Amino acid sequence: MKNIGIDVGGTFIKAAVVERGGKIVLSSKTPTPKNGEAIPEKTVEIIEELLEKTSLGTNDIESIGIGVPGVCDSKKGIIVNCPNIENCKEIAICEYLEKKFGIKTYLDNDANCAALGEYLVSDEKCDSFVFVTLGTGVGGGIIINGKILRGINSAAGEVGHIVLKKDGEKCNCGRRGCWERYASVTALVRQGKRAGMTGNVSGRSIFADLARGSVKAREVIDGWLSYVAEGICDLVNIFQPDEIVIGGGISREGDIILNPIKKFTEAHSITDNRYGKNTRIKISRLFNDAGVVGASFLYTQN
Ligand SMILES: [Zn+2]
Repeated sequence: MKNIGIDVGGTFIKAAVVERGGKIVLSSKTPTPKNGEAIPEKTVEIIEELLEKTSLGTNDIESIGIGVPGVCDSKKGIIVNCPNIENCKEIAICEYLEKKFGIKTYLDNDANCAALGEYLVSDEKCDSFVFVTLGTGVGGGIIINGKILRGINSAAGEVGHIVLKKDGEKCNCGRRGCWERYASVTALVRQGKRAGMTGNVSGRSIFADLARGSVKAREVIDGWLSYVAEGICDLVNIFQPDEIVIGGGISREGDIILNPIKKFTEAHSITDNRYGKNTRIKISRLFNDAGVVGASFLYTQN
């Protein structure tokens, strides 16, 4: 059997037909409607197109899973509010799709979906798992004993808003000094510019400078990674998970990012060095597909 995963983003809706093991059969990418109220209808079109192109019928699809960038009621299948999409409030999307296709449909927050995706494709068994994504902000999701920790608004796991520096840099959430103000890729770029980097500075360009032997890039990246590592160490201390996976495009840099973080947490977390078991810290396996693949796995949560 196959499942369909839908990852609604502020700019694009990504969708895919996914095998039970997480392999993508076919995927698509469509601009997100300007008016959020049009999302259910657009999603129907997207699903119909996927079914047509894969020559699959509704009987071949076990479930549909949807991830949205905001607050939702997973039990009722209602999008409560996606602040980055206009008019995306109080939308009973699951009921709409179930009526249309007769396929059981599930809904969750997008970061939770990505966490679930990474968790279920992990090659080692875990009971508890934390996913952290480094991008425009710092997002995350937490899995405890195989279940997404949803919290009361299906939006738990907002690890980016742990306050690292009281009265620090102002965050979009309204507080100051949040982890994401220092550890996101946006923050890395800001730190690079402050250090005097000019031109088209991006996360990628800073790592390219490093590869060319730039001393300044080394300093900027070391500084940024020290913030990333502090937060990861907090997560190790709070959850003592089997595994933490770091995702987002920048995670493709691999060991350059991973090794300093591992070194720091192994030296400073209160759990690891006293009890002898280390949380495994790894790089994403799904990268940009984590959202759609994870959404296709939502049936495992209900
Ligand atoms: Zn914040």
